[in-house]
Amino acid sequence: MQKIMKLSIIASAIILTSITSVNAQAKEFTIGTGATENQMQQNDETDPCISAMAYKLIENRCAENAKLLNIKRQLLTTSLSWPLKTAASFTDCSYYFIGAYVDQNSASGVFKDWNCGKRSYDGHGGTDIGIWPFPFNKVDSNSILVIAAAAGTIIDKHDGEFDRNCVGVGSGLSANYIIIQHADGSLALYWHMKKNSITSKTIGQTVVVGEKIGVVASSGSSSGPHLHFEVWSGNTASTRIDPYYGTCNLLNASSWWTSQKLASEPAILKASVHITDYIPKACPKSDTTNESTFYTMPFSGPGMPTDYAKFFIFLRDVSTGSSVDMKILNPNGTTYSSWNYTFTNAFNVCYAGWSKHLPIIPGVCTFQATYNGVACSQNFTISTNTEISKSDKLKTILIYPNPATDNLTIETPQNAKIEILNTAGQIIKTMYTADKQICIDISNLSSGVYIIKVKTEKGVVVEQFIKE
Ligand SMILES: [Zn+2]
Repeated sequence: MQKIMKLSIIASAIILTSITSVNAQAKEFTIGTGATENQMQQNDETDPCISAMAYKLIENRCAENAKLLNIKRQLLTTSLSWPLKTAASFTDCSYYFIGAYVDQNSASGVFKDWNCGKRSYDGHGGTDIGIWPFPFNKVDSNSILVIAAAAGTIIDKHDGEFDRNCVGVGSGLSANYIIIQHADGSLALYWHMKKNSITSKTIGQTVVVGEKIGVVASSGSSSGPHLHFEVWSGNTASTRIDPYYGTCNLLNASSWWTSQKLASEPAILKASVHITDYIPKACPKSDTTNESTFYTMPFSGPGMPTDYAKFFIFLRDVSTGSSVDMKILNPNGTTYSSWNYTFTNAFNVCYAGWSKHLPIIPGVCTFQATYNGVACSQNFTISTNTEISKSDKLKTILIYPNPATDNLTIETPQNAKIEILNTAGQIIKTMYTADKQICIDISNLSSGVYIIKVKTEKGVVVEQFIKE
């Protein structure tokens, strides 16, 4: 994948300072390329997505299977749809960025993309579509699906390989992949997918356009979760084309996309509300997002001033001097607060986050960010804890440690009913305690933000905790 522009060391240091100690004051403003510096280093000429040896193996396998299947080549032209889609449960504004296009400069040691830009690496044969933010969380939740860009016959496939690689590995067939031959004889290669996610259809069976064929991950020679999508007009790597057409495409005379995307697509991929800074984790770990859509006032996020939350935006194709407008809207749609930010650097992907006071009026509020003329929004709920005052609450109920790993201890003044809910409000655990102290095993919860409700005779206390 293409190099992701890095911030200055000073900015990176600020991020690290704010994440290594969650209990320290969360930074009022955070910007960075975050986990991408670790999770999406990049494939490059020394660690290509598909090695020369792997190309040879694939060519042989495809040729043998084509002979066995005896597929007739027709005079048609293939039109390619976008090879990814999101799972039904996915609600972010977008999810992808281009890491690297096909290298159009055949000379060694230099590279150029179809648009005469530098978004490629020497010898790269396909289009790398990265997923962001929280790439390994997306792998965990099967959020980004690989779909057939065109109808055809499965001519080769391979599955069962480890899918959380961070660097190039080996030169054999270590990726989970599928190759589809289209009616005109052209081939599409889909690489780096999740273990056991490749369609159960067998070699020789057909797929329709848009059919799910796998899940994006980081198997094979891959520096982070992405799809390597490569197209051959014939049955060898030497017939490679670039589906994008532009001035510097020397491989083919027109675009193969049904609808070709622009070389730069500035956009906000996600706008979100977090109880404190999100914690980027080095590849291959999933990030601790600390995201929540549920806030009970008075609210105290780890390291945050009372009633403040962290408002993050995650963007792609950011240009120097461009600006983004942010608004927090009350439940009735009026503006509670607003601010803007102008980028002083260009980024392939980046994020920015601000500590802002939460709206006071209970109800469904909205965080809205607008970039390049398009708004991206996230709703979140504000409720008030009227049953017990903050000072009483602090005196009577203790929940620790927070963040917690395996066990959570709750101290209450008397018998209590305890509920643990996810941020969607679903109850995950219910317990009753007769003791003043209860230790709850949370080792089987996946990492993230949870809500804990402690109901006693004196009232209800609602708190949040982080499972690491
Ligand atoms: Zn690639």
